[in-house]
Amino acid sequence: MKKYPYPNIKTKLPGPRAAKIIETDDQFVSPSYTRGYPCVADTGRGVILTDIDGNEFLDFCAGIAVCSTGHCHPEIVEAIKTQAERLIHMSGTDFYYEVQARLAKKLNKLAPGRHRNRVFFTNSGAESIEAAIKLARYKTGRTRLIAYIGAFHGRTIGALSLTGSKIIQKQGFSPLLQGVTHIPYPYCYRCQFGQKRDCCKLECFQYLENILFQKTVPPTEVAAIFIEPIQGEGGYIVPPREYLVKLQKLAKKFGMLLVADEVQSGMGRTGKMFASEHFGFKPDIICTAKGIASGMPLGAIIATREIMDWPPGSHASTFGGNPIACAAALKTIELLEKGLMQNAAEMGEYLIGRLRQLKRKYSMIGDVRGLGLMIGMEIVIDRKSRAPDAKARDAIVDRAFYKGLILLGCGPNTIRFAPALIINKDHVDCCVEILEEILKNI
Ligand code: PLP
Repeated sequence: MKKYPYPNIKTKLPGPRAAKIIETDDQFVSPSYTRGYPCVADTGRGVILTDIDGNEFLDFCAGIAVCSTGHCHPEIVEAIKTQAERLIHMSGTDFYYEVQARLAKKLNKLAPGRHRNRVFFTNSGAESIEAAIKLARYKTGRTRLIAYIGAFHGRTIGALSLTGSKIIQKQGFSPLLQGVTHIPYPYCYRCQFGQKRDCCKLECFQYLENILFQKTVPPTEVAAIFIEPIQGEGGYIVPPREYLVKLQKLAKKFGMLLVADEVQSGMGRTGKMFASEHFGFKPDIICTAKGIASGMPLGAIIATREIMDWPPGSHASTFGGNPIACAAALKTIELLEKGLMQNAAEMGEYLIGRLRQLKRKYSMIGDVRGLGLMIGMEIVIDRKSRAPDAKARDAIVDRAFYKGLILLGCGPNTIRFAPALIINKDHVDCCVEILEEILKNI
């Protein structure tokens, strides 16, 4: 008898209907997308995704960390339906409507720090970053920007200029923004300065303070430093708290703004509303998107009133803050506060514990790290050399799909675990058992 009612793979993959859709997609959809395996989604309920041939998968990726309340949460569906019957679009740029104002008021309260914030609404993560770049430049009158190696901030030209993740994302798209400098992220498992965390002197921070800001980049020309409080696409990397504390002091000293890209790490995923809160980090501008509206396209940037004081017409968007997306966001936040954020903290701890048990058994697991349900597992050739094993990582993610478990990679050799925040222990146990079956045979 099956231990869990899921996953349920009934056809060979891709099944016949999926194969047909992939054939059409191959002909007519941009080849720039990065599909790793042939997953053709049809319906979703909670943590279970059903493909077009009726195969049921356990989904540990949630639409790339977006469907935080699970697929088609009934209360989210209801909120969307109710709003769709009242008003679908009006444009917050030129008109007022209640859900947008209510959501802004709520986000003002949720942001760490003083609650005298304003909110600008966007449709995506990249748009949130674009808005933050513009706001930082406008407010400071400066042009230079600092970002991190390994960072992913999006693919529009401004956001892409800050992205430092993969060459393929940048190649062929120059010229990008001028005055962007990338520095090493505090990535303790692979310290760029050859240090070990327990005895390092935060050489990565010293590089910024004592080399960059003294030799090549005048700090008084820097408008903002963009940082992911947990680096996402770069490999789910958790920085040391002291780094962020020092960064805050340094930014203040030189009058530059700190922008936290919480597009992936925000909205309850890490067990707190924003990952910044784990580190006592109080950014000047917070960028959010992804999980904010359970799958409706919405993003937002939050900044204090003193910072967000640009005049009418200086920035706007036709669709940003769409009423249906705002209604879904308000309901999402309500569900997060009613227990999902707490569940993310608890299930995250349980999942990380189970993955660390696996690490003790399988030497190809180099590192397991994360906060809440933003967990990364690095695959290496062996623990001693820590040499990244991208091929094995890809093979594990691929085999998981054929066994009915949806995972994604991040960074060159990390498996990411970013399920919906509704998961329970059975979901975790099932995921870990599938993973172990793969690890045994790889
Ligand atoms: N910032 C971070 C941290 C992200 O993870 C992403 C997307 O993965 C983005 C920005 C870009 O978001 P979008 O794809 O919605 O433009």
